Amino acid sequence: MKITQIDVFQVDLPYSGGVYRLSGGREYRSFDSTIVRLTTDDGLHGWGESTPFGSNYIATHPNGIRSAIELLAPTLLGLDPRRTERVNETMDLALVGHHSAKSPIDVACWDLFGKSVDLPVYDLLGGSTETRIPTISSIGSGSPEDMRSRVAEHRSLGFRGHSIKIGSLDSEGGPALDAARVAACLADRQDGEFFLVDANGGMLPEAALRFLNLLPDGADIVFEQPCSSWREIASVRARTSVPIILDELADSEASVINIVANDLADGVGLKISKAGGLTKSRRTRDICNAAGLTMSVQDSWGAQIAFAAIVHLAHTVPEQLLRCILDARTTTPVVLAEFDASIVDGGVVAPNEPGLGVHPDMSVLGVPVATYK
Ligand SMILES: [Mg+2]
Repeated sequence: MKITQIDVFQVDLPYSGGVYRLSGGREYRSFDSTIVRLTTDDGLHGWGESTPFGSNYIATHPNGIRSAIELLAPTLLGLDPRRTERVNETMDLALVGHHSAKSPIDVACWDLFGKSVDLPVYDLLGGSTETRIPTISSIGSGSPEDMRSRVAEHRSLGFRGHSIKIGSLDSEGGPALDAARVAACLADRQDGEFFLVDANGGMLPEAALRFLNLLPDGADIVFEQPCSSWREIASVRARTSVPIILDELADSEASVINIVANDLADGVGLKISKAGGLTKSRRTRDICNAAGLTMSVQDSWGAQIAFAAIVHLAHTVPEQLLRCILDARTTTPVVLAEFDASIVDGGVVAPNEPGLGVHPDMSVLGVPVATYK
């Protein structure tokens, strides 16, 4: 089995909520998605998606992804996509870093592998835990009452967890506004719900500690990526009992090893394109498993194809270590592929189909922006 053609598609994914706000005054209205289709000599197609969260979340941007794929494509033609470690070695030898460009290629290889042996990707990654996977909403920053109402809306849709974005500038209200946001979001808490409070690295230690001191007594949260640097995280970590999870800094196996070696967090945001695909995410999963770190299996952003990869990987994470998954499908009205995994009883189950089980809509993808063969 050999890769004979690589097609690249580009789709804009407008944010379903209008404007998405993050710490530091960052705003997003639409996301630029790159879809990869690998074709093999026996006529199978494999699919992958990479949608960066703008250009100022981690070190990646949409045009960079497509340029990197142009560079990688000649090294990939002729490879057997089922030999995923060898495909990754080839990409890493050709180009250092650029995980978000390698990810859709790697995910498409796993989709092909599954189709070639008639097994779902979760079986290739170790087998499904057969648990219904809890989904988490993504609540961008806003006024406390607005955020409370959006949590309620997602609760009514079946979400068990909520990712609450904070990190207000002092000029906007600072730590007091952030504490009020969290108090409002927790006000109607239901049994079994959990809250990740995510500053996306936008706070200095001083602001992070002021925010923690202003929280209501007994606020049951985990604090995600309060600050941007390792030193700042270590400083906050040493001065709070609130569990810390890391996302932006946990961008590689080496960074997760650093977290374990120095006890810098209690969990990680395991995002597939940030990690470089399913092959590298699988290794990160195993490091976290061995170290007892919880995992939120997510992606930077994306639609149905990204979500499918998330669900398959999450199925292989032991239940007590799986915090939640991001339901990327709710972030945009665009439906670029069918993926049959509706939320029931607060969770999802991957379809029992070969590969990822995604069926792209070519009328949405349009014609490729690049083809390599
Ligand atoms: Mg995060």
